[in-house]
Amino acid sequence: MALVLLVNGMLLAQTQSNLFGRVVGLGNGKEKLIALTFDDGPSKTFTPQVLTVLRKYNVHATFFMCGEQISYYPELVKQVSVDGNEIANHSWSHPNLYKNKAMRGAPMASEVQKTNKLIEKLVMIKPAYFRAPYNYAGKETIKAVNDLGLVYVGWTFSVLDWEKPAPGTMINMFTKKLMPGTILLLHDGGGNRTNTVAALPGIIESAQKRGYKFVTLGELLK
Ligand SMILES: [Zn+2]
Repeated sequence: MALVLLVNGMLLAQTQSNLFGRVVGLGNGKEKLIALTFDDGPSKTFTPQVLTVLRKYNVHATFFMCGEQISYYPELVKQVSVDGNEIANHSWSHPNLYKNKAMRGAPMASEVQKTNKLIEKLVMIKPAYFRAPYNYAGKETIKAVNDLGLVYVGWTFSVLDWEKPAPGTMINMFTKKLMPGTILLLHDGGGNRTNTVAALPGIIESAQKRGYKFVTLGELLK
C-alpha cells in the first residue's frame, strides 16, 4: 500500500506511490539492508573524509550531488564513483522549491537534466535517482523528473546531522531508528560536516553489529 505524506512541505514517502509518481523512501524491508545517502556534495573538504571512512569499512553509499558543486570538483565525482559508490542527482543550484514556486516542475527538471548530463560525462553512468533540495518536491516536480526517467528518492529518517549534534547523539538516534530497508540521510556538503564524518564509523559499526549490510540505492531498490 502506498503511503505518502506531505508534512510542513516535507515529502515523506514509505513506498512507491501512483498518486505522486515514482517516489521511494524505504527499501522493501525484507532483508537487513541499509543505504547511506550523502547530500549536497561534492565538498573539497568533507567528501574525501567520508570516502576514507567508507573505504575502511568496505561500505558503499549513494551521493546526491549538486551540479554546481560537481562543476567545481569533477575529480571528486570520479573518485566517488571509482570507489564503487553510486551517484545521484540533487539538482544544479539547490533551490528551495517550497519558497521558489517559479522553479517547480519544468525549470527544476531542466536543472536535473543539466546535472545528469554532467555526471554522465564524468563517470559514464546516468544517475537514476533524484532528491529535491530540502526534500520538498510536490507532485508537479516529481512528475517532471519521473518523465526524465528518474525515480524520486526521499529518506526513511535522518539523524539531523545538519544541526551538528554530537557524534554520539547521532549514533544513538540511528541505533534506535534503524530498520530493514532504511535509507539514511546524511550530508557530505553544504556546511561543516566534521560531526557527520566523526559519527560515521559508529553508525556503520552499530548496523554491522546487528547484521545489516550496506548497499547503494540501486542495490536496495532493485
Ligand atoms: Zn540538499
